[in-house]
Amino acid sequence: MKNYCEECGREVETKIIVKNEEYTVCGEQVMVEARVLTCAECGEELFSEELDNETLLSAYNEYRKRHRLLSAEEIKEIREQYQLSQRGFAKLLNWGDKTIYRYENGSIQDKAHNSLMLFLREPENMRIYLNENEVLLAERQKARLLAVVDKLINNEKRHTEQRFLEAFFDTTPSEDTGYKAFDYDKACAMVLFFANKNTNLLKTKLMKLLNYSDMIFYKENGVSISGMKYAHLPYGPVPVNFDILLGTMEADHIARIEVIYDNGYERHQVIPEGDVPINALSEAELAVLDRIYKKFENYGSAEISNYSHKEKGYIRTKIGEVISYSYAKDIELD
Ligand SMILES: [Zn+2]
Repeated sequence: MKNYCEECGREVETKIIVKNEEYTVCGEQVMVEARVLTCAECGEELFSEELDNETLLSAYNEYRKRHRLLSAEEIKEIREQYQLSQRGFAKLLNWGDKTIYRYENGSIQDKAHNSLMLFLREPENMRIYLNENEVLLAERQKARLLAVVDKLINNEKRHTEQRFLEAFFDTTPSEDTGYKAFDYDKACAMVLFFANKNTNLLKTKLMKLLNYSDMIFYKENGVSISGMKYAHLPYGPVPVNFDILLGTMEADHIARIEVIYDNGYERHQVIPEGDVPINALSEAELAVLDRIYKKFENYGSAEISNYSHKEKGYIRTKIGEVISYSYAKDIELD
């Protein structure tokens, strides 16, 4: 790009150099790496509004970093996650009309304003703020904002849960998972299916019912239902990390385990906290669950354990080992 150079007295080629420059921001000296437009021939610095603004903004951001203040970009992100305009956000906070506009364009926010925005970055806090303060928003605007906040909170919860489950369950399909990525929703639906059918369902029996359902569905369709891995434990095949899974289901109010003391014995009973969600399972999946349920309807926990001990997949594996779905072909249910 050509530009006029006062030194050379004519249009010249330009180039951009990088140099350290000192700026004064709120009475403090701040060093920034500035990009400066210069004359390619004599090296004279030339004026460029765009580059000067860029440098000024990085000086402000440097100051913000030093004082742990939100950057202009972060302020914009906070506002946008709530789908608010600059004016709407300022109104919500009871600040002057132009305040957010100025902050997003480089002006340094004062400490109190910074603290409030930092607090409101968390959707949970925004909900508290909306419920506990007289805000200047119209009722409709407030309702809309609350809906956005609820959605953000739910998404956040789901993401945390997803990350948590991924740490314990395989999301990469393999022979051990029945060539299916672990599917939490399906696993929940299976638990709810059996727990609703049988009001006295014990945890040990549930584990066997899940195992047979996944194995038989795999045998007939080439994929499992839930993508759960099963391991060889002394009392039969058990979903790997089953207690973590049940704990998550309990926290999600899907189903819980109640411990009942009965003549000195502890019984772990599965209590459903809802129905099987519609469309969570396909008709083919439901049909298999139904067959498995009927087959073992009158088996106690000990009987179904003994029954599962005769399976080849169980006999051929050692304690703690994963029972591959390749053994499914050997299961015969009459
Ligand atoms: Zn020049």
